[in-house]
Amino acid sequence: MTRKIFRSILAVVIPVLLISFLVITCWMYNYFGTIQEEQLRDELNLAAAAVNNIGEDYLQAVSEKSDGDHYRLTWIGADGTVLLDTEADAGEMENHSNREEIQEALIYGTGSSSRHSSTLMEKTLYEAKKLDDGTVLRISVSHAAIAGLVLGLVAPILVIAVLAAVLAAFLAKRMAKRVVEPLNELNLEQPLENDTYEELSPLLHRIHAQHQQISEQLHVLRQKTDEFDQITGSMKEGLVLLDRKGMVLTMNPAAKELFAVGAVSSGMDFMTIDRRHDMNAAIEKAMRTGHSEIRAVRNGREYQFDISRIESDGAAAGAVLLAFDVTEQANAEKNRREFSANVSHELKTPLQSIIGSAELLGSGLVKKEDVPRFIGHIRTEASRLVTLVDDIIRLSQLDEGGEMKKEECSLHSVAAEVISALEPMASEKHVTVSLEGDQGRIHGVSRLFHEILINLCENAIKYNVDGGTVKVTIADREKETVLTVADSGIGIAPEHHSRVFERFYRVDKSHSRQSGGTGLGLSIVKHAVLYHQGKISLQSKEGKGTVVEVVLPRQ
Ligand code: ADP
Repeated sequence: MTRKIFRSILAVVIPVLLISFLVITCWMYNYFGTIQEEQLRDELNLAAAAVNNIGEDYLQAVSEKSDGDHYRLTWIGADGTVLLDTEADAGEMENHSNREEIQEALIYGTGSSSRHSSTLMEKTLYEAKKLDDGTVLRISVSHAAIAGLVLGLVAPILVIAVLAAVLAAFLAKRMAKRVVEPLNELNLEQPLENDTYEELSPLLHRIHAQHQQISEQLHVLRQKTDEFDQITGSMKEGLVLLDRKGMVLTMNPAAKELFAVGAVSSGMDFMTIDRRHDMNAAIEKAMRTGHSEIRAVRNGREYQFDISRIESDGAAAGAVLLAFDVTEQANAEKNRREFSANVSHELKTPLQSIIGSAELLGSGLVKKEDVPRFIGHIRTEASRLVTLVDDIIRLSQLDEGGEMKKEECSLHSVAAEVISALEPMASEKHVTVSLEGDQGRIHGVSRLFHEILINLCENAIKYNVDGGTVKVTIADREKETVLTVADSGIGIAPEHHSRVFERFYRVDKSHSRQSGGTGLGLSIVKHAVLYHQGKISLQSKEGKGTVVEVVLPRQ
């Protein structure tokens, strides 16, 4: 700014200075020129009068006295020959008849002219007058020409110009400081509160309007960001936004947890967060083709990653990555596949046995006395099939999770019914079954409570020892009812504890088969308990017995 002001001052001062000098010089030159011409004319008249009166002697006297720094007088004959000159030898001077002032004087009586020297630095003024005898007297004087004058003024002008530049620099600095100081102190946060130059008012009003616009836009932007954060923050799915270079723009809490990233994730290269090749290849594919999907395991859980390209102005601007936890879905798919395979296998075994026995009977190779044994075998296998199909149907119903009719039930009454139904089985094994505790009043599906009790009690009798005991206890607590079925049977080794609830899992396959087990009983129990938002746990020691505890919320 200082430089600009400095240049502006100089741009004004220097031309003004030069023009002033030129104008004044020209004016003064003309002014003094006119005065000098008049003086010259007066001198000529005096000299002419003297020559008319005294004659050549006057000129001789002037010539002798002349010191060369005053007027010069030249006497010229009517034919132009120089008769006498106060400064030079007349004989050596050329004919003057062609000189302008001489010609004028010869014609009009007086004449004048001026001539510049060859360098234009000097100017000579001539005045001529025709004398009485027809000769012409000429007076001349030389002085510096205007060019010489101007040239002579160059040095002072330069000095003044330098002084002007110094002064301009000083003034520019001061002016810039004075102009800029209030500008630097402007409070742009509150533009209208500033009391500076009036000329700044439109600018300050514009800044104020822009402030308002920006703060409104910021408010909207903040609102949108909050909405986005709230939506993505409450999402179960992981969400990651990447820019074109694969740098993280944003990551929701679910994604941070999934990729085990700390609080700050923005600006990080996603390749440093998830280094797996399949993920990078999927992101690259999405950037290229628009979309890609992969399934991958992270932190022991299975995820479906959907990656889509984000476009802006027809070019890839980044990508959005959505991570869905599909562990349950994958497990369910796996279970379904295993279940189908198991069901086929479980159905095939008794069917093959039935077909084998039937074929033998049909071939007539079976002895008459063995026929009842074969028929009994077919009946046993057939009823095993019925039990199996019944269990599969029950499980399928529970899997479907449809609404079932709920009512007020008494676990005690259901248990009493079950125990009485299992009485023949218990007495066959000499197992004593007892029931004690509270009423176990609970709101739920009576049929499922029946399933729970019959399967648990059946197992407790089935896997018991001869003369063993089964204790069914029901305890009503404030918010839940606890059902315990404890037996003194063969028990379960620790490694099987968690697996006995799996479908078709049996600790001892032959024992289970012998006693008509399908391997589905505890799965049905578990599902029925979960249907009521309850919990089931098992404690067992080999050779000591098993305690199964079911906790059911009363509502
Ligand atoms: P199953 O129809 O074979 O009895 P379950 O699902 O009811 O099938 O039980 C799974 C397995 O758990 C059984 O095969 C058995 O080995 C074991 N089991 C269940 N209950 C008991 C128990 N009270 N005592 C010992 N083992 C048991």
